[in-house]
Amino acid sequence: MYKKSTERKEMSDFESKELQCSDCGKTFEFSVEDQEFYAQRGYAEPKRCPECRKTRRNNKRKGHKQMFATVCAECGCETTVPFQPTGEKPVYCKKCFKNHQQQ
Ligand SMILES: [Zn+2]
Ligand SMILES: [Zn+2]
Repeated sequence: MYKKSTERKEMSDFESKELQCSDCGKTFEFSVEDQEFYAQRGYAEPKRCPECRKTRRNNKRKGHKQMFATVCAECGCETTVPFQPTGEKPVYCKKCFKNHQQQ
């Protein structure tokens, strides 16, 4: 193992280490700064490399949209909408919604 520099921060007990990502299996550096950051917040060591963490975060955000199953007020087919149907307004499937917009 190499050391990046000979001078070390006084209060730092940390050394950068290699961790293995549980998602892609790649090894990644858990840097001293990261370790301090994690330790300060009481986090456990990361299980995933920064790329996989980013990917997961993005997926989470995208996948967060909850879809509700409902029935189209126009043609009566089953459809899903990204909001909770209140029953006050008619909900249409994609096809009928388009038709209504064009009117
Ligand atoms: Zn990874
Ligand atoms: Zn419809």
